[in-house]
Amino acid sequence: MRLLPHNAEIDRGEAALKGRDILKLGEEELRRMRGRDIAMIFQDPMQSLNPTFRIGSQMAEAWRSHQDRGDFHAHAVKALAGVGIPDAAERMASFPHEFSGGMRQRISIATTLLLEPAILVADEPTSALDVTLEAQILELLKQLREKHGTAIVFVSHDLGTVAQLCDRVVVMYAGRVVEENDAVTLFDNPAHPYTRALVDCVPSRYRRGMALATIPGRVPSLSALPSGCSFAERCAMAREICREEAPGLVAQSGGAVRCHIHDPARAEAWRVPGRPAEAAIAVPLTEVRVREPEREALIEVRDLRKHFGEASGFAARLLSPRRNPVRAIDGINLTLRRGEVLGLVGESGSGKTTLGEVMLRLQAATSGDITFAGKDLRRIEEKEFRRRV
Ligand code: SF4
Repeated sequence: MRLLPHNAEIDRGEAALKGRDILKLGEEELRRMRGRDIAMIFQDPMQSLNPTFRIGSQMAEAWRSHQDRGDFHAHAVKALAGVGIPDAAERMASFPHEFSGGMRQRISIATTLLLEPAILVADEPTSALDVTLEAQILELLKQLREKHGTAIVFVSHDLGTVAQLCDRVVVMYAGRVVEENDAVTLFDNPAHPYTRALVDCVPSRYRRGMALATIPGRVPSLSALPSGCSFAERCAMAREICREEAPGLVAQSGGAVRCHIHDPARAEAWRVPGRPAEAAIAVPLTEVRVREPEREALIEVRDLRKHFGEASGFAARLLSPRRNPVRAIDGINLTLRRGEVLGLVGESGSGKTTLGEVMLRLQAATSGDITFAGKDLRRIEEKEFRRRV
């Protein structure tokens, strides 16, 4: 989309859209192409929404720059209603801050729908959203593809989402494509050790009770890439040749992979007598450890409640009997053991943050008990508590 900062240079290659090289277009042609032919939605919708203008004005601006026909208002209301914005006609007069994060993302998708681009680049559009909103946005993208035939480039590090939405997958590492294939083949039979390791890192019900796999080390600096394979320092399959020679892309099962193992001229280093070299890739490449025995309980939460808008104490309740308090957390029990990682999962407003704040003594509980290393949390001295938590 030619949105790179000024210090970025494109020194080679081309990017053709409808037979024309985007990299060679002039500013005016580029402006016409953006929105109409190719559009982008960002992880943070505020990157594309101006906080000082009403959303109707912003949509009108996009419409005027890229469309010269039809009734803007009718199209805009339809697009907003289509992405699930209630009272769409009235909400056109609202400012971005009057919407939730998920709604803002839907508004930026609605603006895109309005322009009906041939290609949509969606840059991690669901990363900042909870699972329910993520499902809604994915559904919208699917509809966009089915109803309008829009081609989508979905940028993500979330393999589960990619598997749900994408037909083809391109895996990149250190600025290069390391594997490309249709989604089914790539997830069923990952050919590159990096893809294989990523797939191993996805939690699976088949590995219940086992620690998640991890990929050791870090991505190398893009300004000091090694002369051989960029993944060699982290690859459990690396051989001497990997550090000496950078692998090229080789055709593989209808796609392509950048790894010496799949290059018939290099594969000798991995050959096990009686088996093809590619068989080496079929073994898990990342370390999967068996869960350690249970350790001592560090924090125990029992029947914890935090209600807002409820008078505390019997007399106060008698004098100001408010009904319907907000039950931010209501009867939580959990145990966190030393060295354990506890995943607290839920939609926005499900009480996760309040629970964390009560555990940190930033809010007082309405009722229930919390013990820290066997002691009542309320009775631990402030200094000791801050030192240990
Ligand atoms: S070329 Fe070697 S280091 Fe690179 S991914 Fe393949 S096996 Fe691993």
